[in-house]
Amino acid sequence: MADILSAMPVDENYTSSVSSVVGFEQAWRYMTDNYTRFQIAAFGSGFFHFLSYILISLPSVVFQFIPYMQRFKIQQDKPLTGANQWECIKLLLVNQFVIHIPFYLGAYYYCELVNLPFTYDTMPKWYVTLAHCFACLVIEDTWHYFNHRLLHHKSIYKYIHKLHHTWQSPFGMVAEYAHPIETMVLGMGTMWGILLFGDHLILLWVWMWIRLIETIDVHSGYDVPLNPMHLFPFYGGAKFHDFHHMNFNGNYAPTFTWWDKIFGTDIQFKEYYEMKEIEAKKQK
Ligand SMILES: [Zn+2]
Ligand SMILES: [Zn+2]
Repeated sequence: MADILSAMPVDENYTSSVSSVVGFEQAWRYMTDNYTRFQIAAFGSGFFHFLSYILISLPSVVFQFIPYMQRFKIQQDKPLTGANQWECIKLLLVNQFVIHIPFYLGAYYYCELVNLPFTYDTMPKWYVTLAHCFACLVIEDTWHYFNHRLLHHKSIYKYIHKLHHTWQSPFGMVAEYAHPIETMVLGMGTMWGILLFGDHLILLWVWMWIRLIETIDVHSGYDVPLNPMHLFPFYGGAKFHDFHHMNFNGNYAPTFTWWDKIFGTDIQFKEYYEMKEIEAKKQK
């Protein structure tokens, strides 16, 4: 049989696409065969989060050293310095221990409580996982909008959310620069979708990736053209959230623009860019 197969002509395009899927399958099976559910859910998820955060933040860190990219920086008058980036990294490292390790230990207990499947054979179709991730994004955006407004209430702002607003001109790594209480309150928004749709560990990991890409993109400080995230209708993007950091008010939703549109909390943002457009026309 092996001789017959080896004698058959091979379509290289077909085999490379199949082998990449098989590569993923082999890696997943290797993981589930060699590690316990505790190791995968708690330490695997935590390590995956940490590594993803570094990788996704990397482009906006590198952009500051590329002169061509400076034209895309949103707040041109506020350059980054090594000192403020180091200050940001220090708190992120503390948060790894204070927030992320307990959070992923909790994630393991959730997986056990609902007996969440981990195996490759029980993995849902890719389009089902993507549809669930989109629903998670809509739910998280709603939760975040209202609780973010609450965190801006003058009686509590200075105790919790002020820390995130240390950065008037944000950069990618600022995404998780927040008070532990804020991380817990707003972080709950990422869990509601999982509680509703959790059907496999893969949903937790893909959703984590999408959420990290979104939050790091909106904090990047760069409005780069041809950004594929803008293919999503109503996606706010870096310009939208950067204005929130610059102005301290308005544009409370992290991902989509609809809640700010409905409640009129995007008015200052619109006026600001209308003024900028008028000034640019005058100078021509
Ligand atoms: Zn805020
Ligand atoms: Zn922010």
